Amino acid sequence: MDATLWVLGSAGWMPRAGRETSCFLLETPEQLIMLDAGTGVANLNLAAAALERHDRLTVLLSHYHLDHVVGLMYLKRFAADKRVDVYGPGRPVYPKTTQEYAADLLQDALYSSGSFGFACEVHYHDYGGQDFAVGDLPVAVRAQSHSAPSFELRLGDLVTYATDTSFDPTAWEDCSPSKVLLHECWQIGAGDPRHSSAEALAAGLPRERFGRVLLIHHNPAWSDTERAEVERTVAQHGIELARDGMTIEL
Ligand SMILES: [Zn+2]
Ligand SMILES: [Zn+2]
Repeated sequence: MDATLWVLGSAGWMPRAGRETSCFLLETPEQLIMLDAGTGVANLNLAAAALERHDRLTVLLSHYHLDHVVGLMYLKRFAADKRVDVYGPGRPVYPKTTQEYAADLLQDALYSSGSFGFACEVHYHDYGGQDFAVGDLPVAVRAQSHSAPSFELRLGDLVTYATDTSFDPTAWEDCSPSKVLLHECWQIGAGDPRHSSAEALAAGLPRERFGRVLLIHHNPAWSDTERAEVERTVAQHGIELARDGMTIEL
């Protein structure tokens, strides 16, 4: 299957110049799928031709932290003419449904277009921690360790998306290989147990199971020196740092 992946937001927490928060776009011949909807949604103009080719956009959310969902508010700019399907963890792993969390964002006090929604036609779905499918593309779901329930999403053999999680070197023992792994990296060495470090990824990632490994959800507090250290730590293991605007052919 031919597919293209765009990195629209490679940062976690907050944007800084040239690095928006978590958002990726996958185009297959049949589907246009967004992985998380952080401020990187603002970079959708980079995939304008792909947007024109599809009348449907599917958004898959790993969890509901704002750096992964705030860009839903920008969708109207790019997807006002489309049917949008938003899949989030929802019930029973969260106390509310994906639609209820979206309604929280849509409230008038937070969003001036609240009563008009995020796009012309939006349908909400809860995957509830269970595998599901987008058309004929299977999505395997795996619970991760984070401060709130977050889920790894594995789209066929194309992309494995693992963000907002501590690193688990045993995570993919029973999985078939994937063309690309997008994995979060928040720190150089041990630190925040809710996130992954470059040192742990370099030491334990089963690199051979993935065609390409790109680190995402970078810490916006990194200095240029720290970022270079992260890059050095993982480069010798064939692991790259993602950057906004990157396009990957699968
Ligand atoms: Zn995050
Ligand atoms: Zn998070």
